[in-house]
Amino acid sequence: MNRDHAVVIGGSLSGLLAARVLTGHFDRVTLVERDRFPAGAAFRPGTSQSRHLHVLWTRGLELMEELFPGLERMLLDAGAAEIGVPADVLWLTSAGWRNRFDVTRLLTFSRPLLDWAVRTRLTEDAASGPATLDLLEDNEVVGLIPTGTDVAGVELRTGEPIAADLVVDATGRGSRAPAWLAGLGYPEPPETRVDPLLGYASRFYAIPPGFDPDWKALYLQADPPATRRTGGLFPQEGGRWICSLSGAGRDYGPTGEAAFLDFAKGLRDPVLYEAIRHAEPLSPITGYRRTANHRRHYERLPAWPRGFVVMGDAVCSFNPIYGQGMSVAAISAVALDRCLREAADDMERRVQRRVARSGAGAWLIATGEDLRYRETEAAPTRLSTRLINAYVDRVVATANVDRRVCASLLDVLALSSAPASLFAPAVLARVTASRIRHASRPAGGPAERVGRAAEVVAGRGGRERRRRELPRRELARRRLPRRLDALGHLVHRGRAERRGARVAGALRAELDEPFDLGPCLVDLDLRGVPLGDDRGQGSAQLVDHLGVFARTELLFQ
Ligand SMILES: Cc1cc2nc3c(=O)[nH]c(=O)nc-3n(C[C@H](O)[C@H](O)[C@H](O)COP(=O)(O)OP(=O)(O)OC[C@H]3O[C@@H](n4cnc5c(N)ncnc54)[C@H](O)[C@@H]3O)c2cc1C
Repeated sequence: MNRDHAVVIGGSLSGLLAARVLTGHFDRVTLVERDRFPAGAAFRPGTSQSRHLHVLWTRGLELMEELFPGLERMLLDAGAAEIGVPADVLWLTSAGWRNRFDVTRLLTFSRPLLDWAVRTRLTEDAASGPATLDLLEDNEVVGLIPTGTDVAGVELRTGEPIAADLVVDATGRGSRAPAWLAGLGYPEPPETRVDPLLGYASRFYAIPPGFDPDWKALYLQADPPATRRTGGLFPQEGGRWICSLSGAGRDYGPTGEAAFLDFAKGLRDPVLYEAIRHAEPLSPITGYRRTANHRRHYERLPAWPRGFVVMGDAVCSFNPIYGQGMSVAAISAVALDRCLREAADDMERRVQRRVARSGAGAWLIATGEDLRYRETEAAPTRLSTRLINAYVDRVVATANVDRRVCASLLDVLALSSAPASLFAPAVLARVTASRIRHASRPAGGPAERVGRAAEVVAGRGGRERRRRELPRRELARRRLPRRLDALGHLVHRGRAERRGARVAGALRAELDEPFDLGPCLVDLDLRGVPLGDDRGQGSAQLVDHLGVFARTELLFQ
């Protein structure tokens, strides 16, 4: 391949990082961006997501630092905050509060600040390097220039063609690459979509003067499928917090003033609501709903044009709640660099394969979680996903109280390790042993949280959590079919007398007023609970046994 000129379409993070790599391999690089870039760290419409919380995990930051040595210092000098994770974070996971071990750290800043810093470094470095960099702002690529079935450049909105040896599409979720490829005679790439129907609402606040809690950030996660709301409150440059609220299953974060606060109040713990309710808002509330996990499998196409690659969100975009897109953009940029160094004949195909691999771990994490929601729109969940999720539940619970498992989990979330590393013998052993080891061992941190984390690992966390989150009566109602199932089995095995009383005792502890037993009996019957050879007789025994409940003064209507 001739290495005279490369064109990058899109000047957000994927495009900027790709342009940085290309300046090391081409004489000239042109970056075409639809927007005009702001002079400083300001919002622009092409990256409307930048009004929402953006967490850059360690791996992403490390790789960006490799591409732009000194970037981290620049961000800190511009006011980015450094926080220990989870040391400085009150983090409510699906399995309860995470103990505040000192495992890793994050820089937190607004997304416009990061884009400004990367853009500034890109142009400064190019000015002193051998390659020429042109930023074509306020312009747009409307198509590719073909040469046979390959790509020889791009066509601008203004009608002007630009010849290029390599074109990089970094235009994000709205990429028109499938249509452009079809125009060259290639089939559409297979796609996978997992849509948790999640919506964000975000607002900036001034951190109240004198406000001095024992945390720097809050992260209150949903506990799917029981609860669907997540809230994050993170410090940003300029003495601000960004508060992002999100809800899955169409329980979208709301943009109305009162509804926003109400939503915050409805999170699994009031701490975030308490923090923002008297804080001064610095921005309107903005919403965002284009959050589906969406993967275009370019790597599976049987043929691929020379002179063209697709990167970033244009290939694979994630439910942003897991904070992975920017890190995957950095991993993909490094993959592009490696492929250009190898200079193989099929360089472009190799890029597509590596870019697909760069996003694979993040995809597993994001979709594995999202598939827990009943409302998520996706192909039916496989048994393997359910088994993995069950194991991950244990990992999350153990990570709350075990520093080493916490470090392994954070490595995976930060994309520093593959998800498979959670099945490594060292982690597996701690996770499976955790029930015994931690049952009586308190974790560090505030007293209330210690107790809750220990309960989770002792296997009681789920019960305790739900007991707090669901009205008592509703909880009892939900449990009744299960208790009756158990009772049915006991009757069947002729062991109802002794253990049936225990089931009745549990019910007595939970119920304090009458409710309708009818639907539960119908439900039992429909599910064919084994009630002995003669179902009529078994049922009669069961109903007899329900007398136990009557004698325990529960009134069934
Ligand atoms: C609400 C939300 C929160 C997020 N939070 C996080 C987070 O916490 N952590 C994280 O790592 N990631 C997060 N992400 C993901 C992150 O924003 C993206 O992964 C990241 O911006 C990289 O995307 P990109 O550069 O590939 O595409 P985009 O950011 O979508 O940029 C595409 C660019 O291409 C330009 N463009 C489009 N078409 C054309 C054209 N034809 N010609 C010229 N220019 C064009 C656009 O103007 C834009 O500048 C979040 C995303 C959302 C939506």
